[in-house]
Amino acid sequence: MRQDNGDSRGFVSLVGAGPGDPGLITVRGLQRLRAAGVVVYDRLANDALLAEVPPAAVRIFAGKGPNAHALTQEQINDLLIAHARAGGRVVRLKGGDPFVFGRGGEEAEALAAAGIPFEVVPGVTSAIAAPAYAGIPVTHRDFTPAFAVVTGHEEPAKDETSIPWAALASGPDTLVFLMGVGHLEQIAERLVAAGRPAETAVAVVRRGTWPDQQVVLGSLANIAERVREAGLQAPAVTVVGKVVSLATSLAWFHPGGLAGKTVLVTRAREQASGLSRLLSSYGAHVIEFPVIRIEPAESYESLDAALALCDQYRWICFTSVNAVAAIDCRLQATGRTWQQLGSSRIAAIGPATAGALAARGVAVEWVPDQFLSEAIAAGLPDPDGGRILLARADIVDARLVRALEERGAIVDQFVAYRTLMSAEPSDGLRAKLEAGEVDVVTFASSSTVRNLVTALGLNAAALLRRSVIACIGPVTAATAASLGVEPTVVARDHTIAGLVAAIREHLAGASVSYPADRSDPTDPSVHDDQFGQLPLQIPEVAPDAS
Ligand code: SAH
Repeated sequence: MRQDNGDSRGFVSLVGAGPGDPGLITVRGLQRLRAAGVVVYDRLANDALLAEVPPAAVRIFAGKGPNAHALTQEQINDLLIAHARAGGRVVRLKGGDPFVFGRGGEEAEALAAAGIPFEVVPGVTSAIAAPAYAGIPVTHRDFTPAFAVVTGHEEPAKDETSIPWAALASGPDTLVFLMGVGHLEQIAERLVAAGRPAETAVAVVRRGTWPDQQVVLGSLANIAERVREAGLQAPAVTVVGKVVSLATSLAWFHPGGLAGKTVLVTRAREQASGLSRLLSSYGAHVIEFPVIRIEPAESYESLDAALALCDQYRWICFTSVNAVAAIDCRLQATGRTWQQLGSSRIAAIGPATAGALAARGVAVEWVPDQFLSEAIAAGLPDPDGGRILLARADIVDARLVRALEERGAIVDQFVAYRTLMSAEPSDGLRAKLEAGEVDVVTFASSSTVRNLVTALGLNAAALLRRSVIACIGPVTAATAASLGVEPTVVARDHTIAGLVAAIREHLAGASVSYPADRSDPTDPSVHDDQFGQLPLQIPEVAPDAS
């Protein structure tokens, strides 16, 4: 039954955000977020999910946080009702599953009482997911046929407890306590007093499924002390029972490795967010210090003229997402469409650039295996005797053009955009680098290296010595080395996702992948450097699929 009929009446979706990892929201939950007009969210929801909400949507933080006022449950209920009455598509985004603690049931009751149509989009509850990410199946044929999920929020010592301790102690072997870290000692005591052996295995999983997940193992006798020693705090689930004995052999989740790391992003402001988001999704603290900005070319006269006569080109080559965006602007400015580019074949340097073209309905005929301009020069099919239109940045190495010409092509190149230095005061950054507070510095192009070195001024290379220097590809790395900034990590895949993967590998202790040949003849500023793959980019489901 489809309840969200999309008419002008308001509608509330109580959506489970899942336990933390943004990939663990349901397909329908993600659809609802992408269509939301208003989102009321909790502290436990991952920011990466909020990035899916349309920019124009109203976002309201309802959860408790260190610096934020919590709304009372009544205020939250009233908000949902008021926005729905105003005709909004309201999403109430709740951590885990909306009906496992967290008072989702009360919100549904308030909506029902107010006559507001609503739906419940269940979520992956932390009660099951956090143990699973710690290698603990909550049921197992050898250990237990049942499990119970219990609130640990209640003061266990209070006399008129609503928790049936005796029944729990002798009931399902697996007990999962939520909201219980603060009362761990009393919970363990209560269970032992009610008959559970003191040596019963216990696991506490903090921030399960997040990049900074922590697991502490012990027994009812010592878990409180071990958790205290480890300094573990909420949010955490506590698992009690025989299944916990599997945690060591089944540990499969090795979190991102960027937790607690500070990473500097030097890309242009417009391009930084994808990289920053990916880094944060692995637990990094990101500092953005854009050292380049993308500006239009000084003149588009010759490019416009070429686009008007584009039938003469065998190939149109795009070496970045920026070039695609620039051509898009020129086509619009001159009242033309991509479809009017005629019979030219389209080449893109890599998946992000190809994706930007595909998003505009342009069929990309060829992408090289390696996302570098030298790979275009070497592999572009059938260049001989053909004319090639190359839309490029102002700073570019002549070698791409020369290599294509050596293969018999006639190359017409046009400046589609300019890469300029952006000048922010760097005192704050200098201080952080000096104090060793920046663990990793990322460079997604040669110009970011040059401009950061210029921006830092005196002793730039020495200042950068204490950080891991991560470069998107061999050319960027060579530029860094030539400026005295020794690269630590070079991505094998010359994409933003590849850069982040290389950083994670490096921090996890994998070997350094600096190429043997530094005289790599690649263009210094050209690779598929736009952010391509977000963990959240799952296939869109047609809106009528539900
Ligand atoms: N509806 C949520 C639970 C809300 S109550 C769900 O289904 O998961 C809040 C409690 O959930 C926290 O105190 C903690 O015990 C637990 N919790 C939520 N996310 C967690 C996570 N990623 N790791 C461990 N515990 C988590």
